[in-house]
Amino acid sequence: MMTNILEKIKAYSTIIIHRHQRPDPDALGSQVGLAELIKHNYPNKTVLTAGLDVPNLMWLAQMDKVEDRDYQHALVIVTDTANTARIDDDRYQKGDYLIKIDHHPNDEPYGDLVYVNTQVSSTSEMITELALAANWKMSDRAAYLLYAGIIGDTGRFLYPATSSRTLEIAAYLRQFSFDFSALARQMDSFSLKIAKLQGYVFENLEIDEHGVACVTLTQERLTQFGVTDADTAAIVGSPGKIDSVQTWVIFVEQPEGHYRVRLRSKEKVINQVAKKHDGGGHPLASGANSASVEENQQIYRELQELFQ
Ligand code: AMP
Repeated sequence: MMTNILEKIKAYSTIIIHRHQRPDPDALGSQVGLAELIKHNYPNKTVLTAGLDVPNLMWLAQMDKVEDRDYQHALVIVTDTANTARIDDDRYQKGDYLIKIDHHPNDEPYGDLVYVNTQVSSTSEMITELALAANWKMSDRAAYLLYAGIIGDTGRFLYPATSSRTLEIAAYLRQFSFDFSALARQMDSFSLKIAKLQGYVFENLEIDEHGVACVTLTQERLTQFGVTDADTAAIVGSPGKIDSVQTWVIFVEQPEGHYRVRLRSKEKVINQVAKKHDGGGHPLASGANSASVEENQQIYRELQELFQ
């Protein structure tokens, strides 16, 4: 599979890389890390990154301006994105050939070539493996991006998907020159308004006797704390820091009135609940959509039923 991907990368002079909407560090790390690697090893190729910039991650990477005409005869690679509905910028279909590289469950195997490995911590780990298999020269900037993606998706080596190979890959990337502690600090710190939002989450978390927890963030609350939907990424792991919490869900009201549902779990697999509510994702970290407060209550009950 990796050989086939490398052949395609060698064959095309224009390569456009996409990733999922509302990107996290692994989406950006794998997307821009791959772009940097290709540029570094094939300086004559045109490599572009597509999608919207997100204010809270502008410090990590920013997207290129991609024109419709760039897609003519282009190879398109989509990283870290399980299904086509979540790909940022639907022009991904306009290229000549499409490759999917991802570590989420392969619910929708789109593209001409599908490289999915659900056993690895992150798509950034997969991109590093690809670089090693290809014998590509690693650049400092690519190492920085890929390392950021790995620590993002493993919660800095906390989650069970962290394997001995993940640590080897991280150790390899750490050899390159980037400000390791500044990156670690950046990824571990938050603004005062996020700290206050976190306080609200701890204060208002409802926890049942099995450690199933939920909290709702209405539009009114988000406005009160001066935060956006994207900012809730900074607190999505917080309930899990409480020792008695096993599985939790955060309902984030959207301006249109429906809810973004963010599900997390320490051990119990929860993605089947997400799938029942217009969502999906990893066994222990998934997302869904809910139309109403009643559906939120239903989701919470379904999580509680997992512990009966
Ligand atoms: P999030 O809470 O948005 O960080 O999502 C956690 C994981 O769930 C992501 O890595 C996605 O793979 C997945 N996910 C989130 N929302 C959806 C959705 N609406 N449909 C499918 N998968 C999703």
